[in-house]
Amino acid sequence: MQLKNKSAFITGAASGIGKEIATMYAREGAKVVIADLNDDAAATTAASLVARGAQAIGVAVDVTDEAQVNAAVEKAAATFGGIDILVSNAGIQIIHPLEEFSFADWKKLLAIHLDGAFLTTRACLKHMYAQGRGGTVIYMGSVHSKEASPLKAPYVTAKHGLIGLCQSVAKEGAAHNVRANVICPGFVRTPLVDKQIPEQARALGISEADVIKNVMLKETVDGQFTTTDDVARLALLFAAFPTNALTGQSLVVSHGWFMQ
Ligand code: NAD
Repeated sequence: MQLKNKSAFITGAASGIGKEIATMYAREGAKVVIADLNDDAAATTAASLVARGAQAIGVAVDVTDEAQVNAAVEKAAATFGGIDILVSNAGIQIIHPLEEFSFADWKKLLAIHLDGAFLTTRACLKHMYAQGRGGTVIYMGSVHSKEASPLKAPYVTAKHGLIGLCQSVAKEGAAHNVRANVICPGFVRTPLVDKQIPEQARALGISEADVIKNVMLKETVDGQFTTTDDVARLALLFAAFPTNALTGQSLVVSHGWFMQ
C-alpha cells in the first residue's frame, strides 16, 4: 500500500495507459479520479474499481477547457480531501507529413497535450500548495519527448514541451515539496497505437506487419512492445517517491528504443 490515503487525479484514465495507472494506484490504496473526455468510459472504469473495493470517481472533462478542468479538480479535491498526485496523461495522435498538416490539427494536438497539462497542473498545484503536505505531478511524455519520428510533428513538439513544463514545476514546486517528472514510453498497444498502425501503413505504403516490425519496434533491443503495466510501474515509482531528490526528470521506458 504505497499510496495509502493519497488522492490522485488522472486524465485520460478511461483507456489504455491512464486506466492501468488508475488501477495500480487504487491497488496501492489511493483514492482515484478517472478524469476523461469519454464520460461513459470514465464512469464504468470508476465503477469497476469501486466494485473491487477502491475509492474512485469518474469525472467528465475536456482537458483543453479551462472551466471544465477547474470544476473537475474542485470536485475531486472536495470528494477526496485534496489532491496529492496529478497524472497528466490524456492524449491523442494525428499523423500527416508536415507539408500536409492542417493548422487546425496542429492546434488541436498541442491544445490537448500542452494546454491540458498546463490547466490541470495549475488547478492541482493550488491544492497541493494550500494543503501543505506536498505533492507529485507526472506528465505522460514519450520517446518522442527525446527524438522525432516522421509524420508526427505536433506530437513530437508537444511531448518535448512537456519536459520544459515539468522542469518549471520542479523548480517552482520544490519550496512546497511538490515534485514533477515525465514518463517517456515507447510504443504501447493501446487504442491510440492500434489506430495508428493502418494509418502509418497507408502513409508509408507498407504493410501493417512492417509498420510494427520495421517502424514501431525496429530500434528496440528485443522487438517487444512496452506494456501498460511497465508504464504504470514507473508511474507508481514517481508517485510514491518520498523526497525532492527525484524531480525534474524524464525517464524512458521503451525496450531500449531510446537510450540516454
Ligand atoms: P488511449 O487512446 O488508450 O487513451 C487516451 C485517453 O485520453 C482516452 O480515454 C481519451 O478519451 C482521453 N482523452 C483524449 N482527449 C481528451 C481530452 N481533450 N480531455 C480528456 N481526456 C481526453 O491512449 P494511450 O495510448 O493510453 O495514451 C495515453 C498517453 O500516453 C497519451 O498522452 C499518449 O501520447 C501517451 N503515450 C502513448 C504511447 C503509446 O504507444 N500508446 C507511447 C508514448 C506515450
